[in-house]
Amino acid sequence: EVSIKNVSKFFDDFQVLKNVSLDIKKGEFFSILGPSGCGKTTLLRVIAGFEGVESGDVLLDGKSILNLPPNKRPVNIIFQNYALFPHLTVFENIAFPLKLKKLSENEINQRVNELLSLIRMEEHAQKMPSQLSGGQKQRVAIARALANEPRVLLLDEPLSALDAKLRQELLVELDNLHDRVGITFIYVTHDQAEAISVSDRVALMNEGEIVQVGTPYEVYESPVNVFAATFIGETN
Ligand code: ATP
Repeated sequence: EVSIKNVSKFFDDFQVLKNVSLDIKKGEFFSILGPSGCGKTTLLRVIAGFEGVESGDVLLDGKSILNLPPNKRPVNIIFQNYALFPHLTVFENIAFPLKLKKLSENEINQRVNELLSLIRMEEHAQKMPSQLSGGQKQRVAIARALANEPRVLLLDEPLSALDAKLRQELLVELDNLHDRVGITFIYVTHDQAEAISVSDRVALMNEGEIVQVGTPYEVYESPVNVFAATFIGETN
């Protein structure tokens, strides 16, 4: 449902995205993998609408979204350091985007409670962000990003600030969440093992180019070149 067509982008004379094309299917857990600086975050920001492009197009269900401002795109993005509103409770943080949409009090209560149950945080609804663990904060941020029912959730290294054990736990949760909400996840990480364990398909990126796209198995078993083999091989 997300099609990136021949997208090129420059920061001054540095070309950060080189004719990138990708087709991501509806409901897929799709990961973009690659070393630091290869352009992953920039690509997500292009999809979200925070960055323009010099050429190419981004389509959602066949329609270009390139000229829509970020808040008009049916897409939400989560970053590594989620900024929860510190002066609002967990409940109010999740309710915030719904209030902006002017839903009724009843609708908001119902939807927030559903989301709290989805992230298993019902008993923390009245806590302030400062009273939560890192993992709990991430869950709240995910719930808030899902609140206005985006069709696509973009996740930019959402777990990288957490320790290894918690990261593994939350990754499993994220995978379950993806199965339950049934929307498309586009997940950016430089951690191959992380991406391979949960993704339907992965794209391997290097220096602004897509090197290979396939199932984790395909990429693992048949790397297209030395870069792919070396990068993926580092999981061992
Ligand atoms: P990481 O895994 O470290 O986050 P990344 O693959 O997400 O890396 P990007 O953040 O997309 O990489 O950055 C790609 C390149 O573009 C980097 O060399 C970065 O320095 C450069 N870059 C990113 N944003 C800008 C900007 N606003 N102006 C100029 N250069 C930028």
